[in-house]
Amino acid sequence: MSFCISIKPGIEYLIAKKNQSILDAAKEKKIALPHSCSNGKCAKCKCKVLSGSFEISNYSSNALTEQEKSNNMILTCRTYPLSDMVIQYDNLIDKSSSFKTVGKLISIEKKAVDIIVLKIKIPLGERFLFKPGQYIDFLLDNGRKRSYSIANSPFIDKYLEFHIRHFFGGLFTDQLFGLTNNHLKENDVLRLEGPFGSFILQEQTKNPIIFLASGTGFAPIKSMMEYIIRKNIFSQPIYLYWAARKLSDIYMDDLAKSWESSIRNFKYIPIVIDQTSESMVNIPKYVMQDFKDLSDFQVYACGSNIMIESAKRDFIMKCRLPVNEFYSDAFIST
Ligand SMILES: Cc1cc2nc3c(=O)[nH]c(=O)nc-3n(C[C@H](O)[C@H](O)[C@H](O)COP(=O)(O)OP(=O)(O)OC[C@H]3O[C@@H](n4cnc5c(N)ncnc54)[C@H](O)[C@@H]3O)c2cc1C
Repeated sequence: MSFCISIKPGIEYLIAKKNQSILDAAKEKKIALPHSCSNGKCAKCKCKVLSGSFEISNYSSNALTEQEKSNNMILTCRTYPLSDMVIQYDNLIDKSSSFKTVGKLISIEKKAVDIIVLKIKIPLGERFLFKPGQYIDFLLDNGRKRSYSIANSPFIDKYLEFHIRHFFGGLFTDQLFGLTNNHLKENDVLRLEGPFGSFILQEQTKNPIIFLASGTGFAPIKSMMEYIIRKNIFSQPIYLYWAARKLSDIYMDDLAKSWESSIRNFKYIPIVIDQTSESMVNIPKYVMQDFKDLSDFQVYACGSNIMIESAKRDFIMKCRLPVNEFYSDAFIST
């Protein structure tokens, strides 16, 4: 059994095994939490518990007084989680800024003729902290790079998952789909940098959420949804509209359907747009057919730039969505 410990400020996470102290779990993950003696005497690792249950033992009452304990203060070196927890430090620097690393390609799975799900393993012991919705850059030759959204939640720290659509003649995706001599294969190593981006799930919101994805724009939304399911803190209604030009491009339809039974108040609406007469610009109308007033909503839109631009304009102008409640990431080619 293991528990997720969220560390504030910032959004950092670590997984602590049963009977493992929070500090030991952080050391294992190479997360630099404040500490010194590591045996309950110096108080350097003191912090506040915002939620969750735990056991604390074998510490000096000079390091943690009874009053501090009753105010939910702990020493991480002597605290053993009994559930998922949120802890807070007053002066912790947010170290989750981007960095460069390498990753081994551990699986390439074709989900449709032109869509691949890629899994990359980060070197053992290295941490790759990111927020649900963020992306990385694969660093290619001659200083070129290509951006891809991370599709798994930060709670899965064994690999990074990506959903990649093929563009014929594309520098990177031609390699991935085997159209060049330097065909990417399992066990190949890729250089990457990240995480980047402000398309991030706003955890504190209580407003109903609309997720709007086109094609592989589903990737960061999957990361957010997996985060929501794991954290189990969202009780507001959540709607996922996933649009594509053909049914096979809704390549994880079963997964999206399965969320209807894992989350209360979740509704999934797949949309196959008519290739001949309908363009991406019309996708937002499916949302507007269901909701005339979005003044209390939050919208996360990802994928086609045309879809995003028209959703932003229509939702704000016609449905009174507050401007600052529209979050988006457009898959614009660089
Ligand atoms: C923040 C961000 C996140 C992204 N996340 C993802 C993701 O999760 N999954 C994913 O599949 N893609 C994603 N992309 C798009 C991705 O970065 C590449 O642009 C795409 O994979 C094409 O790369 P390539 O090297 O194969 O093609 P290029 O060599 O860059 O281009 C080949 C041809 O395809 C055209 N083209 C390339 N991309 C697009 C596009 N998006 N729309 C229309 N024409 C295009 C180019 O204009 C060019 O003519 C993201 C882009 C950004 C900016």
